[in-house]
Amino acid sequence: MTFDTVGCSCQKRDHRQIDMEIRSVKGMNDIFEPQIHIWRHIEDQVRKHFESFCYTEIKTPVVESTTLFSRGVGDSTDIVQKEMYTFEDRNGEKLSLRPEGTAPVVRALLEHQLLNQDPIQRLYYWGPMFRYERPQKGRYRQFHQYGVEYFGSEDAWVGAEVIAMVVKLFEKLKLKGLAVRLGSVGCDQCRPSYKTILSESLKSLHAQLCSDCQNRTQKNPLRVFDCKNESCKKLVGQLPRILDHLCQVCGDHFAKLQGALGEFGVSYRVDSGLVRGLDYYMRTVFEVTSQDLGAQDAVGGGGRYDKLSEDLGGKPVPAVGFAGGIERLAMLLESRQTEFQPKLPLYVVMPDDQGVGTCARLVSELRLLGIRADIDYSGRSMKSQMKRADRSGADYVLILGGQEISKKMAVLRNMKTKAQEEIPLETLVDDLKRRLQ
Ligand code: AMP
Repeated sequence: MTFDTVGCSCQKRDHRQIDMEIRSVKGMNDIFEPQIHIWRHIEDQVRKHFESFCYTEIKTPVVESTTLFSRGVGDSTDIVQKEMYTFEDRNGEKLSLRPEGTAPVVRALLEHQLLNQDPIQRLYYWGPMFRYERPQKGRYRQFHQYGVEYFGSEDAWVGAEVIAMVVKLFEKLKLKGLAVRLGSVGCDQCRPSYKTILSESLKSLHAQLCSDCQNRTQKNPLRVFDCKNESCKKLVGQLPRILDHLCQVCGDHFAKLQGALGEFGVSYRVDSGLVRGLDYYMRTVFEVTSQDLGAQDAVGGGGRYDKLSEDLGGKPVPAVGFAGGIERLAMLLESRQTEFQPKLPLYVVMPDDQGVGTCARLVSELRLLGIRADIDYSGRSMKSQMKRADRSGADYVLILGGQEISKKMAVLRNMKTKAQEEIPLETLVDDLKRRLQ
């Protein structure tokens, strides 16, 4: 990895190095060219897509009270137990960097009584999240999520619409090799009795479970399904599944969801072991995975969380949502990077400094019209300016120096055909506007 130059050239130091203590934090990344263009493409597409489904953006703070997540995400989840960045501020308040976006959005919904304005609220967000996980490809400690939350309807159609919206987004991004897994985690009526059955069968496997899962057996046995420990993963196949223990209402809801997904033309696979890593889900859960991502293969996931609002002290608010990881989407689009590179219509080359005023005015005028144009004022040789222009991928190079000024002409070179023509200075701006806009 290389680093930007630090310090001035009179200091005798290796400019590629940077003091260890001020390097970026492990698992937290800088994002710049060329990846940043992929990110921008994703952001543009995501925003456009969600907004066409009538979602509006919400921005919540990166820091929230720790209690929001312990109550919202769940005390027994890995996120709250092991992964949150928690600290006390100067006033002794316990705060956390947000590990996910749903609990903050629900907090904001309740705090600002948004449902009083409209009983249906459709919100989307976009931003950094923080989890102290073991960094690896596709898993970072600062990562970025985009997500949606639909508040105000219990209907299975709404969950199906959210899933279909996500699938269509991925189609728009031209992603291939994705699979949708669908499950149900039941409700307060059927989950407690299933948990008892599950706890019983986990007791018989106690000695083979990791220490975390041994603790989960009593407190929250469903978490065993998303344990990352290899030996636990093998045991999961022997456990009873919640889909066989759903109450009538949850069973009907699940059937209606599947019917609606059929109407939307979404292909999916029912996965009876899908529980997801957050406690707030009820009934619908889903996850989208990619075969091109390696071990960290989840592109995104979500589900229904009708009880979260009450867990946070609000009135009951039926809700369903989705969150996806931007880094993983960017990885999937990496091979198409050049598609997202911004085009450069013009590069201005100055053989000497006699035309610098004219060139500066010209470039400035074009830029104000939104036409990207590059120029280098540092007096480099014509050869090195041409080299840089070539590397920049510019469509045209304009050559303008003393010789051209005396002829009242500028030379315009088409970088694709290599054809050159002379353009009168008098009509230069209009001519370029016409060609480049
Ligand atoms: P979750 O909130 O755990 O359901 O995560 C939703 C999505 O965010 C996942 O499917 C991933 O695409 C992404 N994601 C979650 N954790 C990480 C992480 N540590 N690094 C990168 N992406 C992540």
